[in-house]
Amino acid sequence: MSVRTGLLVALALGVGLPGGFAVPAAQAVQEVQGADTPDDAYTVWLCPMHRDHQAHGEGRCPLCGMALVRRTLVTRYVCLAQEDTVVEEGPGICPDTGDPLVPATREVIWFCPSDPDRVFVEPGVCEGDAPRQMTTRVSAHGDHNARHGGVLFMAPDGVHHLEGALEDGAFRLYFYDSFTRPIEPEPFRARVVPADDNGTPLGDPVALSAASGTLETPVDAVAGERAAFTAFVRFPDRDDEDRFDFIFLSEAEKAALAGEAAPAALPELRVPDTPQAILDAIRDRDRRVQSLIEQGRWADLFIPALEAKELALAYGEGASDRPWVALKRIVRGAWLLDLYGDQGDRIRVGEAYEIFAEGMRGLPERAPE
Ligand SMILES: [Zn+2]
Ligand SMILES: [Zn+2]
Repeated sequence: MSVRTGLLVALALGVGLPGGFAVPAAQAVQEVQGADTPDDAYTVWLCPMHRDHQAHGEGRCPLCGMALVRRTLVTRYVCLAQEDTVVEEGPGICPDTGDPLVPATREVIWFCPSDPDRVFVEPGVCEGDAPRQMTTRVSAHGDHNARHGGVLFMAPDGVHHLEGALEDGAFRLYFYDSFTRPIEPEPFRARVVPADDNGTPLGDPVALSAASGTLETPVDAVAGERAAFTAFVRFPDRDDEDRFDFIFLSEAEKAALAGEAAPAALPELRVPDTPQAILDAIRDRDRRVQSLIEQGRWADLFIPALEAKELALAYGEGASDRPWVALKRIVRGAWLLDLYGDQGDRIRVGEAYEIFAEGMRGLPERAPE
């Protein structure tokens, strides 16, 4: 079995790290790079309808069955209030407000100056053989980076995002549209309660009140210490409140993670050569999934979960004596871990893990010879 070709530019090149050269602010939006792909770009496969569903390579969306499409992404730094006018390659300061730039995942697209509204997802040439020009844009569900140093989740309504943050002795909820652009909190109602490490509420939820651009309530939380809050949020057009389990890591936990790249995209996956090695690799991903669940790092679950899915499919390839029911459970459990991890609901994450774990228990210790 070979390296999957889906990720041409791998994480090894530094996903999540700023590029090595600065772009003058005036040129930032139409950053003209000729025909080439930026050095720090990476490739993902996405469903056109469900863009948060990523895969390692070609395939179909488990939700709607559409063929996945190849897209090129980069990490750029933008002003929260003017996301499309300031796009920098590295950290910096918004010229108008003096606020720090925030990291954002953007899609790389190409265009010809004669018809700039027509965009391409690959480099190429325009009429007259001039190379297409490159720029970046926000895309729906293309960017799950927190804006206030908090934790960002996708709302189950599929059109909103929300971020929980601990700032100035307050728990705050910030709301975003599907493009992760800030929106006013007025249409939303929310309650929040501190929780212990197992997600058990410590007291009764209190309603958040509207403040400038956010919903908030004062809380007792010591800066730099691990803290957990469960929020119940009512979105318009949803019958019930949705649950979000925010785990804020301690400074020590964050420091231990500092070397890890931001999980904006799936890293390249090398499928081992032998069935036994594939089984061992699936068990390794199971251990990583368990460890992330223990740490409450829901949004990072998609990496080991989707790798386990890919490995389970590879284990099933080309052999008739495979534990099909177990493999199917792993694939389904992995997909649900990805979905509910993005939504930050620990109850549903736990249910998804039970499906996954049942599949794991059905795998043999040793692959048949
Ligand atoms: Zn889909
Ligand atoms: Zn999203």
